[in-house]
Amino acid sequence: MSERPIRPFTSSDGAYRWDRVEVTRYKEEGSALFRDVTRQTLFRRPDLRGELRYFEVAPAGYSTLERHEHVHAVMILRGDGEALVGAEVFAVKTFDLVTVPPLTWHQFRAGASSPLGFLCMVDAERDKSQLPAPRDLERLRANHAVAKFLDGH
Ligand code: MN
Repeated sequence: MSERPIRPFTSSDGAYRWDRVEVTRYKEEGSALFRDVTRQTLFRRPDLRGELRYFEVAPAGYSTLERHEHVHAVMILRGDGEALVGAEVFAVKTFDLVTVPPLTWHQFRAGASSPLGFLCMVDAERDKSQLPAPRDLERLRANHAVAKFLDGH
């Protein structure tokens, strides 16, 4: 079988795509709060425990606020925006590397007029995401910067 590289291209809607890679839904509709995110699994095979995915968040969109036992290594590949990791909010841009430790709340937001595309490496066998309960949100919101981030401005 050929191992020719999977080449990138830009789709008609401007999103980054790769040849032979399916664009899938970020999550099942209605399962969690998110907006304008696509997912492409770039690399997955049984002889390596890691998976490499590319997510693209459209301008003003955001990923789900969640936490889980498994960790993420995230490299921003496109655009800019903000990342919430734990109790901190960071401005992020192309080639920044963001680590999400176990059981740490995290969410990615694209800028108002910029998409935010990122590679995300995860363990192939991983636990399900947990969503915040009202008391978790209350704790997060106690931090002013985090509250501003969660409100999208
Ligand atoms: Mn996650």
